[in-house]
Amino acid sequence: MYAPVGVATSWRRLRHTAVLALGLVGCHWVRSGNPAVVAPVAAAQVKAVGDCAPCRDSVDIVAMGVHGFLMVPWRDSTELVMTPPSYTNPTLPWMLFGNWLLGSHPNSARIERRLRDLSAASFNRLAQVRAVLVGHGHYDHLMDLPYLAPYLPNATVYGSSTVVNMLAPARGFAGRLRSVDSSAGIDASIPGQSIAIGRTVTVRAIAWAHAPNIGSHVIARGERTTPRTALPRGVFGWKLGRVYAYAIDILDADGLVGGRIVVHDAAAPPDVVQRAAAVIGTFPAARSTTLIITAANFDQVPQYPELLLTLLAPTHVLLGHWEDFFRSPEKPERVVRGIRARTLADHLTRVQGSRWTALNAGATLRVRW
Ligand SMILES: [Zn+2]
Repeated sequence: MYAPVGVATSWRRLRHTAVLALGLVGCHWVRSGNPAVVAPVAAAQVKAVGDCAPCRDSVDIVAMGVHGFLMVPWRDSTELVMTPPSYTNPTLPWMLFGNWLLGSHPNSARIERRLRDLSAASFNRLAQVRAVLVGHGHYDHLMDLPYLAPYLPNATVYGSSTVVNMLAPARGFAGRLRSVDSSAGIDASIPGQSIAIGRTVTVRAIAWAHAPNIGSHVIARGERTTPRTALPRGVFGWKLGRVYAYAIDILDADGLVGGRIVVHDAAAPPDVVQRAAAVIGTFPAARSTTLIITAANFDQVPQYPELLLTLLAPTHVLLGHWEDFFRSPEKPERVVRGIRARTLADHLTRVQGSRWTALNAGATLRVRW
């Protein structure tokens, strides 16, 4: 279901812009926040976690920017998994004015510079990525991905059918786009199917949801049911589609699950969190569970992320989507506008103690078990 070009599309664009403009009126939208509140690990640094001596195995999780993460299993560094980074990051004034007039497209020069600068997400490593996991179709997760296709020659992109249809014109991914709509877990009675990424890594998609961006409004809501013939012209052409969390399982030599990474890229309401936790409850037990949560819009739904932390009892929590993505990633990171990061940090500390981490782009969390 998609709008024909014309009045409906113009009306939608106008509505999206009006909502953004209204959002700016709220004072906590005007300024981004001080990153000291989440104490991010500096770029190029490695923080190791996990109580094990001796440790049997580990996975490196490299922050690439916004909600982009590169997962590098220690036992087999040819089976990497990635979530898409965002580098172009249109500014708010651009979103309000420039996007209308000129559209928004990947900033190729900036993407190239970032990939060169983030040595932990080197070109060699990107060439070993087998799976790119897309949680939903918004521009801050998808707009830069087509540009990265040549650097990801061995990767298949997994996401909703909306994601697959929107990326159809990206020739670099031809034949490498897979919908997870029919294999995703829904609840404990429909736990879904696992996808073998390689010998040591499996992935499962789990039905998830997207908290409102502002008030009760989710931007660019909707699906794309037929393949596009050209990539979207502007940020609001990247439609939400169905939303998924993913469980990435790294298997031990004995075939049991060593490390599990559960990742989602939007805050979700309690009923969705409960169903997703029930799906995960049907999976084989893991020695270590790392949960990647979403800072952006966390306070637009109740009990996020505390309910999820309580239900999953993760070994460690990694804070995703915490940077201000209306700002160049080549400037020092600031906390995303529109959230009260101190409150989030307090929630995390109350449930997790010190077992949570934020990373600057280029930093690594090494999870051992
Ligand atoms: Zn989104």
